[in-house]
Formats: sequence, C-alpha cells, structure tokens
Amino acid sequence: MKSLVLFDIDGTLLRRAGPHHREALVEAVRRVTGRETTTDNVPVVGMLDGDILTQMLLNAGASRALIRKNMHEMIDHAERIYMRRCPDLRAKVCPGARMLLYRLSRRGVTTGLVTGNLTRIGWKKMERAGLRQYLRYGAFAELARDRAGLVRIAVRHAKKEGWIDAASPIALIGDHPNDINAAKANRVRSIAVATGLVGAEELAEHKPDVLVPDLRSLSMEELFG
Ligand SMILES: [Mg+2]
Repeated sequence: MKSLVLFDIDGTLLRRAGPHHREALVEAVRRVTGRETTTDNVPVVGMLDGDILTQMLLNAGASRALIRKNMHEMIDHAERIYMRRCPDLRAKVCPGARMLLYRLSRRGVTTGLVTGNLTRIGWKKMERAGLRQYLRYGAFAELARDRAGLVRIAVRHAKKEGWIDAASPIALIGDHPNDINAAKANRVRSIAVATGLVGAEELAEHKPDVLVPDLRSLSMEELFG
C-alpha cells in the first residue's frame, strides 16, 4: 500500500549537529542589518528558522517593519553561509535513523522532510549526514507560518504527485511537542522520539500516537498503526 512518512531533522534524524546553524543565522543578520544579535535567549528547539530570526532581532530592539523588509535577504545569506560551513554530519545521525530510512526505501514508502530548517540548510544537513538519497522531498521553514502548515503542504504535495491517495497511512516523526501538535492538526499519525532535548515524560503529556526512546525501537506496526 502507498504510504508516507515525514521526518523532522534536528533531534529526530540528527543531534548535536554543532553551532554552525545558529552561527549562520547570527552572521546573516549582521551582514544584512548590521545588528549584533544572539540566539541565546531564543528557545530555538522546535522553532522555524524565520521565527528564530524574528525573535533574535526583536530581542535586539529591531522593529517588525525592519525585520519584514530584510527577511528574504537574511534567509538567503543564512543558507549560503551554512552551506559553506556545514561540517561532516555522518557521526551525528540519531540511533536507528539511517536503518529506518533504509527499510522504508526498500518497502517503497515515500519519505519526506518537515522541518523548521530553511530549505538549503535542511538539504545540506541531509547531504552531509549521508541521508539525502533516502528523502524524496521536503517542506521547509520559509514555506509556511507554522509546522502544521508545513505538514499540510507536504501531504498535499504527495497527493498531487500520486505518491499517496486518500486512504494512505501518513506518519510524522519528531522530537518536540510542536511536531506532535502539527501531526494532530493534520490528522496524521504522530510518532514522538525522545532523542532531542525534550524528555519522554514531557512528550507523553502531548499524547503522541506512539512514543519511542529512539528510532531503533520503532516497529513498522507502530509506525503505520
Ligand atoms: Mg526537532
């Protein structure tokens, strides 16, 4: 049967990927606006990159008008900077992630990304982690206002391409309550994995359909229900 599995990146496929992503955002803000900012007081986990840029600048006293005017250019710079600096991430792949992607590809399951990363940052991470070949497409930070919107885009696209139909099982795997909520908002099966910064207890409070300590213990039955 046709089916779709959507993956978050940070904390789900990769962890401890280093400061390069945050540094690219800070550097992009500096180059475009001349302002010094930091991600220190921004709860970046589970956030979309565009919202992180906005919060960094608001914290530094910038106006919403200035942020809006410069957003497109900041995104462009952040992506370019990250693509140049992204390290080898093969050792940062979460336990069981590569094997799960491999098994899904062998079964002909469509797989995609739903991530708060900007497009070129997300794909660069996948490339440097050696996972690019397993992911058919993605919905990234700049395409919607929130994660639920990204899931909607990803599902719609898979249907339009004929990769899935109305009866196909769809699952979203993520490490944050925002992922669980985005799945529920789209009536997609929510799989929570406790390999990120949010603990299993807190994830359980958001009532995912499945909660696993890491992807090694996720069975196909649990994944598709
Ligand atoms: Mg995450």
